[in-house]
Amino acid sequence: MQANITSRQNELIAARRVPDNCIFVGGQCVKPEGADANAIPLINPATEEVIGTCANASAEDVNKAVENAHEAFESGVWSKRNGNERGAVLRKIGQLMRENRDLLAGLDVLNCGKPTSYALFDVDSSADLLDYYAEIAENDEVTRVVPLTNAPGYVGKEKRFPRGVVGVITPWNFPLKMALWKSIPALASGNTVVLKPSEVAPWSCLEFALLCKEGGLPDGVFNVVIGSGKDTGVALSHHDKISYLAFTGSLFTGKKIMHAASDHVIPVTLELGGKSPLIVCKDADLSLACKSAAFGIFFNQGEACTAASRLLIEEDVYEEVLKGVIEEAKKIVSGNGLQENVNMGPLVSKPQYEKVLQLIQTGFDEGLNCVFGGLPKETGKGYFVPPTIFTNAETTNTLWKEEVFGPVLITKTFRTKEEALALANATEYGLGSGVFSTNRDTLDYFADNIEAGMCSLNTYHFSSHELPWIGWKHSGLGIGLATHGYYEYTRLKQVAEYVGTA
Ligand code: ADP
Repeated sequence: MQANITSRQNELIAARRVPDNCIFVGGQCVKPEGADANAIPLINPATEEVIGTCANASAEDVNKAVENAHEAFESGVWSKRNGNERGAVLRKIGQLMRENRDLLAGLDVLNCGKPTSYALFDVDSSADLLDYYAEIAENDEVTRVVPLTNAPGYVGKEKRFPRGVVGVITPWNFPLKMALWKSIPALASGNTVVLKPSEVAPWSCLEFALLCKEGGLPDGVFNVVIGSGKDTGVALSHHDKISYLAFTGSLFTGKKIMHAASDHVIPVTLELGGKSPLIVCKDADLSLACKSAAFGIFFNQGEACTAASRLLIEEDVYEEVLKGVIEEAKKIVSGNGLQENVNMGPLVSKPQYEKVLQLIQTGFDEGLNCVFGGLPKETGKGYFVPPTIFTNAETTNTLWKEEVFGPVLITKTFRTKEEALALANATEYGLGSGVFSTNRDTLDYFADNIEAGMCSLNTYHFSSHELPWIGWKHSGLGIGLATHGYYEYTRLKQVAEYVGTA
């Protein structure tokens, strides 16, 4: 088994076409200035082995990338092509992604530890995303005549244009998918992009950049800079030739991005954290609810901004639901994401592992009852944390309030739907939410009143790029995905013309 995993890892590393310490600028893989001296080690979180290094691009390197993207934008080589031409290139890139799915997925597994089946899903759904936005570009009516009811002799029009260079900054939990959720609609609407993926998981995005070139995207239209948040991220977010900032990550960093955007008065979208509630009513299909609750929190090791980390259970069915979720947790197979049948990998990095262990310890310190999992008992290699369930929560508990970004669930009971709603909304966040019930009125009550940008009824972690992705409260700003995600990256112009006789 171990030999197979090692040989698969070696095979994936050898199949990479972008060498270590490179960034992708102006259609070329280049070594950034001084990057060798500052290269960041890349660690496989399942084994703790150093599997490579990545660049730490300096402000000067970021400047070159932005200048390239700006020149490409101004030249019109992409921004002035019509939607059909842009759509054809995006479709071609989507096809190349499908042909390279094993490599792209495998690199995400090596960098962030997720199970291969999840990584493959990320690649496949991202390829579909390219087709989706290709179609939107192809059907985009750039100019719209606006009927003017009270202005005889005048014709009014709305015209839409791409904004310019879009700076995209993304995290490590879905390395390729998060990068493409932002970059693809921006490219589809005619912008050029400088992407900074997480320095912890950069490989798939770099390989994707090569596929863009092969798919016919002109040089300079899509650039990837790699490096730390404090060096590369800061330089990108503060660059004065960036026209739009798209960010996914923590609330802490999101606020900094918003500050940076304010310096140049540019728009920003933020996809931030969550502490999403999942509500199980006594009339729910309890088997479905238990499966979904376990999947809601343990999917992707809990490293998902929409992780359903607070489980609210109606008192009458509390014992039954808790038992059901524990049964589901017992079925989880934890291990190296390259191994078949594994459905939970390690946490992404040592700092993240230590942060999650610290939060679990806080659960014990605050007197919560741990009914499953807890602090890891084995001290072998890899940043593995068992699926963990705490009960008896109070709204003052740290685990109730803070996003863990790990496989840690906290439960609480409720008696009425009004109480459940108040508990669900007792958080600074407002990203995901889930409700399980067989009663139409109950489902509608929660869908209408939960303070969250997304509400899933009798399902969890359902995601379609045709639906908008929205965070309320401290979970975000702006709208991702769907047609809204495309229009975000365009700017409007009003054109008014007098056509009457003077
Ligand atoms: P995490 O700590 O979970 O990685 P972050 O929000 O810090 O979450 O990181 C998300 C992305 O933001 C990463 O690509 C990271 O390098 C980048 N980043 C971190 N700090 C900054 C910053 N001050 N300015 C710009 N980007 C940053």
